[in-house]
Amino acid sequence: MGRRALVTGGTRGIGAAISIALQKAGHSVAANYAGNDEAAKAFADEHGIAVFKWDVGDFAACEAGIREAEKALGGSIEILVNNAGITRDGMFHKMTPEAWNDVIRVDLTSLFNMTRPVIDGMREAGWGRVVNISSINGQKGQMGQVNYSAAKAGVIGFTKALAQETARKGITINCVAPGYINTDMVAAVPQNVLDSIIAGIPVNRLGEAEEIGAAVVYLTGDDAGFITGATLAANGGQHMAG
Ligand code: NDP
Repeated sequence: MGRRALVTGGTRGIGAAISIALQKAGHSVAANYAGNDEAAKAFADEHGIAVFKWDVGDFAACEAGIREAEKALGGSIEILVNNAGITRDGMFHKMTPEAWNDVIRVDLTSLFNMTRPVIDGMREAGWGRVVNISSINGQKGQMGQVNYSAAKAGVIGFTKALAQETARKGITINCVAPGYINTDMVAAVPQNVLDSIIAGIPVNRLGEAEEIGAAVVYLTGDDAGFITGATLAANGGQHMAG
C-alpha cells in the first residue's frame, strides 16, 4: 500500500537513494534539502520527486516545511526518514563551540524538530514509521568526531525512548546505523585514511547508498510492524554491536 513519505536530506547521497527506494516501493515521496538548489533540481527533474528547502535544525522551519510537503502529498506524513546530517570533524582539544553546536543541531535536534510535528498525525491514523539514520560512529565512537559520535549516539537513545511511547499506537521508530558508504561525505575523507578504513571492513568495500535505501524500505513496510526501537547496523561487518 502506498504511503506518504518524507525524507530529510533526501536529494543527495544516502537520502537520495532512500527517496528513490521508497518511490520504487510505491510510496509518494517528498524530499527535503538544505541549500544545494542545483542538486535538488536535478534530482527532482530526474526522479519526479517533489523537493522542499528548509533547515532541519530550525523548529519553525520544519513545521512550515512539513505542512507544505503534506499539502503536496495530499495528507499527513506516514513515513518519516530523518536522514539529514553533517560533519564538522576535528580533535576535541581543538573543537570550537560552533563545530559542536552545528552538529548537535543538524544531526540530533533535527529529530525533535521533524518528528514532533508529524507524531500527532501518526497517532491519529494509528499507523506510522520513523527511521532515523545514525552511524557506526555513534555506536563505537570515533576519534576526531566527538560531536558527531555524541549526536549519532543520541539518535539511538531518541529512537529507543520514542519507540516505547508510540508502540501501542501502531507507530514504529527505528534506526539504521550505516558504516562507510560511498557518498560525498566519505569522498571528503583523505584516500590513505579511506584505504585503512576499507582494510578494516570484513566485506572489503564501502557500502552503497542503495543498500541503505533497501533497509529503510524494509523497516517502513507493513511487514516490519514487530520491529521497533531497533538499530539495524549496515556496515559490512565492521562493527558487530550486541
Ligand atoms: P551528504 O552530505 O551526501 O548529503 C547530506 C544531505 O543532507 C543533503 O541532501 C543536504 O542538503 C542535507 N542537509 C544537510 N544539512 C541539512 C540541514 N540543516 N537541513 C536540511 N537538510 C540538510 O550525506 P550522506 O548521504 O553521506 O549522509 C546521510 C546521512 O547518513 C547523514 O545523517 C550521515 O551522518 C549518515 N551517515 C553517512 C555515512 C556515510 O558513509 N556517508 C555513514 C554513516 C552515517 P544539501 O544537498 O542542500 O546540502
